[in-house]
Amino acid sequence: MCKGEILPEKTHLDSLSLKYLQELVIGLGMPKFRAMQIYKWIHHKNCEEISDMTDISVADRKKLSEVGVFTSLDVSDIRKSAKDGSVKFLFRLFDGELIEAVILNDGKRFTACISSQVGCLMGCTFCATAKLGLKRNLTTGEIVKQVKRLNEYLADSEKKLNNLVFMGMGEPLDNLDNVKSALTILLDDNGYGFSHRKITLSTCGLTDKITELFEMDTPVNLAVSVNSPDDEIRKEIMPVANKYPLSSLMDVLKKLPLTKRKSITIEYVLLKGFNDSIEDAKKLVKMLKGLDKVKVNLITYNSGAEAGFSSPSEKETLKFQEYLISNNVGVFIRKSLGSDIEGACGQLRAKHEDVS
Ligand code: SF4
Repeated sequence: MCKGEILPEKTHLDSLSLKYLQELVIGLGMPKFRAMQIYKWIHHKNCEEISDMTDISVADRKKLSEVGVFTSLDVSDIRKSAKDGSVKFLFRLFDGELIEAVILNDGKRFTACISSQVGCLMGCTFCATAKLGLKRNLTTGEIVKQVKRLNEYLADSEKKLNNLVFMGMGEPLDNLDNVKSALTILLDDNGYGFSHRKITLSTCGLTDKITELFEMDTPVNLAVSVNSPDDEIRKEIMPVANKYPLSSLMDVLKKLPLTKRKSITIEYVLLKGFNDSIEDAKKLVKMLKGLDKVKVNLITYNSGAEAGFSSPSEKETLKFQEYLISNNVGVFIRKSLGSDIEGACGQLRAKHEDVS
């Protein structure tokens, strides 16, 4: 599926998969091959004006402009971290809403962290985006265009994105239709040409939607935000745990076809005195037993806008990590990037709203 968003009068051309673009051009009386030309103009040549598509006849460009428009995504703010080189973008959408995306740079690769919704319904207490509630889903075009804008920024230094993670604002599985449509374009060689191994979708654990995601031919990597091996503790910070207990989440993960999934990352934000004890680590090891190809990503908390939590010390973090390693659980530590640029999701937008 990738029908794009049909406005009352016009279609967002950059929301359409090649298949639906072909349907559109045929419906307009153009030859089918026009669709590929238009698709490449949009996704390969950064074209945002139909009049710039110079290898398409003037008559066909006129027909296209009568039905088609481009998604609006304007850069409202850019902040570059002096500490770690990450770059945070605030984008303004056609209705004035603001979303965030970040370029993360580990010295070798550039990873885009993009948003899937304006706000979020999931209510995780450690997250700035949760405070907004869900305002609306992003369209397919708005998701894809974040990648385009970040690549445009990198192009100035002749670089481009290597990886893509859906870890910005919103729960991607709560906007699954548009996210799947965006993935179709991002994975398409004639679109953005990302390998499915280079894209990771992060979820707070909507188990039924995880199953639906894996009905795709080439599902992307999955990261699941767990944050506690204990349902009662998890419920305190992740209301989603009331609907989807860890036992059902683990069941679904264990049943995912190994042929389709490469690995699963369990995300665990370490919160001092809350979920960082050796007892927690023991329960986590027990919970993950029987789950193949899994690794744990320990995240040090970016204590920005959210009150009530802080990060454990480096020593405490290493102790937690060592326990997992000694019990044969693959684990790595990810530092929160961009602490000087409101790096955690939702923080930059929250900052803008504070001052506006
Ligand atoms: S952490 Fe993710 S799922 Fe939870 S509220 Fe924030 S954006 Fe939503």
